[in-house]
Amino acid sequence: RARSSGEAFAFHEEGMEERAVRRRVLQEDLRRAVAQGEFEMHYQPLVHLRSGGVTGFEALMRWRHPARGLVPPAEFIAAGEESGLIVAMGAWALARSCAEAARWPRLKVAVNLSAAQFRDHEIVRHVRQALSASGLSPELLELEITESVMAMDTKHVRDLLYELRALGVRVVLDDFGTGYSGLSYLLDFPFDKIKIDRSFVRGIGERPECDAVIRAVLGITRDLRMVSLGEGVETATQLARLRECGVQEAQGYLFSPPVPLAQVRGLVARLGLH
Ligand code: C2E
Ligand code: CA
Ligand code: CA
Ligand code: CA
Repeated sequence: RARSSGEAFAFHEEGMEERAVRRRVLQEDLRRAVAQGEFEMHYQPLVHLRSGGVTGFEALMRWRHPARGLVPPAEFIAAGEESGLIVAMGAWALARSCAEAARWPRLKVAVNLSAAQFRDHEIVRHVRQALSASGLSPELLELEITESVMAMDTKHVRDLLYELRALGVRVVLDDFGTGYSGLSYLLDFPFDKIKIDRSFVRGIGERPECDAVIRAVLGITRDLRMVSLGEGVETATQLARLRECGVQEAQGYLFSPPVPLAQVRGLVARLGLH
């Protein structure tokens, strides 16, 4: 009996150790990828619902792995955050997205920032550098942050957001509705845009609480003069509901998945400019 419980414990330990080893291997691999520059940005169009035209693109990171091929962020962003590598990866993403967007015909580019990039003041320097090196107009750069950033030191985060906005860039609240915070913090932070998470877009017209969330967001964005965007739009029905509700922009597979830089021009030609 003692033996079997001992075995069970050993088995449990082995599982944890295996996980730790796998995590270390991934972090080492990621460290190498940062040094070798194995990342690239893909772009998904943001569509204006009234005109149907493109207003800009969200930049989404991909890892061009020498053995594994194209790796999506779900498989490496968390490791980047745990190892601290996300700060270097994020600075690269900013610089790269701004440089590529500077060659587009006056389209916005939205770059995702991780909470780890808000720990100190470096983010302001990274944004300033990306803008000056690329020559991109600051008002064309949107910085997307999630509610996890709001959960950090409120005063520090608010100061940073005001510093960033003073550079002329826009600040966007991503994945709205997935955190546990109430609506009140929307008043405390200077957001220019709110992205309604795709879990709510999926449920509109079917689950009453999703319509309620969208109505609440629209009430706030109207009063505070913020832009609203519906994420993860996959069907014409979802698109029609968002339009009826008065949501201004949308993004999703219905228009296009994220595409490599080489396909951006073709997409703009197909969808048209706002
Ligand atoms: P996100 O910021 O919420 O980005 C939207 C994600 O939803 C993207 O996944 C996009 O491909 C996917 N998506 C877009 N439209 C649809 C749709 O109609 N249906 C469905 N099912 N999915 C849709 P992706 O590219 O795999 O990125 C996942 C997450 O990884 C992002 O979520 C973001 O949180 C993170 N991420 C991506 N790039 C970066 C980056 O450069 N820095 C940081 N810190 N995070 C990033
Ligand atoms: Ca985003
Ligand atoms: Ca999102
Ligand atoms: Ca997300």
